[in-house]
Amino acid sequence: MENKYAFIQTAIGISNTVRATLGPKGMNKMVIDKNNSNPILTNDGATIIKNLAIDNPIAKMFKELAESQEIAIGDGTTTAVIIAGQLLENALSLLNRKIHPTTIITGYDLARTEAIKFVLNKQERTEKEKIIKTTFGSKIPEKISSKLISILKEVKDVNKLRIAKKINSSEESKLINGFVFDGHNMNERMPKEIEGNIAVVDMYNEDLEFAKFNITTTKELDKLEEYLKDKRKNFVNKLKENNVKALFITKTNPQIEALLTDAGIMEVVVYKKEYLDNICKATNSLIITDLKEIDISRYLGNARVKYERETGIIIENEKSQIETLLICGETNQVTEEIIRSVEDVLGILKNDEYAVIGAGAFEISLSLHLKKLSFNIGGKEQLAIESFSNAIENIPLILAENCGFDAIEVVALLKKLHQEGKKDYGVDAIKIISDARERGIYEPAKLKIHAINSATDVANLILKLDDIYYGKDKEDNNEIK
Ligand code: ADP
Ligand code: MG
Repeated sequence: MENKYAFIQTAIGISNTVRATLGPKGMNKMVIDKNNSNPILTNDGATIIKNLAIDNPIAKMFKELAESQEIAIGDGTTTAVIIAGQLLENALSLLNRKIHPTTIITGYDLARTEAIKFVLNKQERTEKEKIIKTTFGSKIPEKISSKLISILKEVKDVNKLRIAKKINSSEESKLINGFVFDGHNMNERMPKEIEGNIAVVDMYNEDLEFAKFNITTTKELDKLEEYLKDKRKNFVNKLKENNVKALFITKTNPQIEALLTDAGIMEVVVYKKEYLDNICKATNSLIITDLKEIDISRYLGNARVKYERETGIIIENEKSQIETLLICGETNQVTEEIIRSVEDVLGILKNDEYAVIGAGAFEISLSLHLKKLSFNIGGKEQLAIESFSNAIENIPLILAENCGFDAIEVVALLKKLHQEGKKDYGVDAIKIISDARERGIYEPAKLKIHAINSATDVANLILKLDDIYYGKDKEDNNEIK
């Protein structure tokens, strides 16, 4: 039993690290890696949990909890982590009262099923813009979020949207019909900006060709070099004949660079395979894999290409198959935090428009509903369902706490109002409490379902856990730490 208590304590500790970040008045945290090199300033629970240096099975479960919420929904990670921690904290007092873990698990499962039914009953169709505003609102300033919302409206297909960043005034964020990546033209004498035909080359095959030659004498080496030089020269001639203005290539060499410079062609080296695919989609090009290719014209695409020092390579094309959201922020940390918020919002855009009322209003309703249910169930499970209800009630409690209010008093007041039928009342950072429906604070129903489900899973898993045996590491026979 002793170990179980230790596991639960660890879980509560982890959950508490994100407590202060919940909601619109949540605090930022600074996450620092071992070398102190890349500090992240964030208000995003998932980012904090993912970067925790603690490396034990309980921390791993929480990291997975945050990740699964992020992948499935894109938002609500802090909520999920807080509920899981709170379920365990409340379970601890039941364990202290000699209630068996199995009883708690059964009660929690019952409450979870009922909670999900409750979400499905309460969910309503709403405009996505309201949901997006809520998600942005809990992380970034109103001015930036409204700008981003208007940009996001122009996006043709969120599934094909890429994100790029630039350190600049946050008002400069914009949507680019094309692709942006961290690259540059090879030298100062090449053009910085072009418009016209584009060629994309993967040099992988040339490397293979080189390896195939069995060179034993310097003469043979000279011959091979002569052969390669000819091939490259012919290729650049073909680029000129086809009026190619920019070449994207996976690997270069001084000869190619010199030939291209003389020809006035912009050369950009692309290190990542993923970039190569995106360049093709943005320019409508096909990858040329052999410099000996006779007819390159059918591989060529078209675009405007520009190199900017702060941004990298910007490819624009009306017929691009992908779009890129260029996110600007005054500093790297600000930009990264905006990107994290946009990623949350993209998750929401991919989801449906069913929502429940936010600002803790939904949680107050759910918690009251579960309390009522617990009375009807009776027995020892009643206590577990009550614990579950209290865990949910913690969301509005923490929201109020983070606003600097007397949280217990606020929650008591909200419960009273809800019982009087004012079921849309929630926490308001300015007015303390207000009608969250009127303020347009909505959150995806799926976010709540996923958070409740995965938090219950993690809590029950830890409650079931009696001991952890550390296996031997096969490689070096050391114990895994
Ligand atoms: P999560 O990672 O769980 O999304 P957030 O820090 O984004 O955590 O906080 C989400 C919580 O903040 C939700 O309970 C949501 O209803 C609440 N919330 C968001 N915007 C507001 C607002 N303007 N007023 C009150 N509560 C809000
Ligand atoms: Mg959020």
